[in-house]
Amino acid sequence: MKCSHCNEEIGELSLFFGSKTPYHYLVLDEAARQNRCEINKDLCVIDQNQYFIRGDLEIPILGTGDIFIWSVWSSISECNFTRVNDLWNSTARQNESAYFGWFSTQLPIYPNTLNLKCEVQTREVGVCPKILLESTDHPLAIEQRKRITMERVHEINHLIGHETK
Ligand SMILES: [Zn+2]
Repeated sequence: MKCSHCNEEIGELSLFFGSKTPYHYLVLDEAARQNRCEINKDLCVIDQNQYFIRGDLEIPILGTGDIFIWSVWSSISECNFTRVNDLWNSTARQNESAYFGWFSTQLPIYPNTLNLKCEVQTREVGVCPKILLESTDHPLAIEQRKRITMERVHEINHLIGHETK
């Protein structure tokens, strides 16, 4: 497959990009990560007073049945973080009301995405929460609301995908 933007030969288009850690972890040096953080692929605590959860910001792709996913982090309150842990293996977690959060991933290719208001909707066991941005004029919020074209998915792959290869 050729990239429609630079004509380079590329592999499969990726419908999934994101960050394996919250921004707040990413910016710490190794010692601080060791001493101040607890992290796994889904949850992160920094200084025992900042709580983060990983989720999917889903953007349906127009004219297809496919969904593009930004894997991102949000902060949540200590109280909600405790609930997340209590309900981790419980079917009750899919009936939770959405938790308030602050977007905690700095996505490339957009204006600043840190600290956008969002909602964290937990889902069934084994599925990470859905993250919904507040409906604003931020380009990412607009894309979430209006969906994106396959052409935009090509562009995102061009801007991120083969930049990191
Ligand atoms: Zn390209």
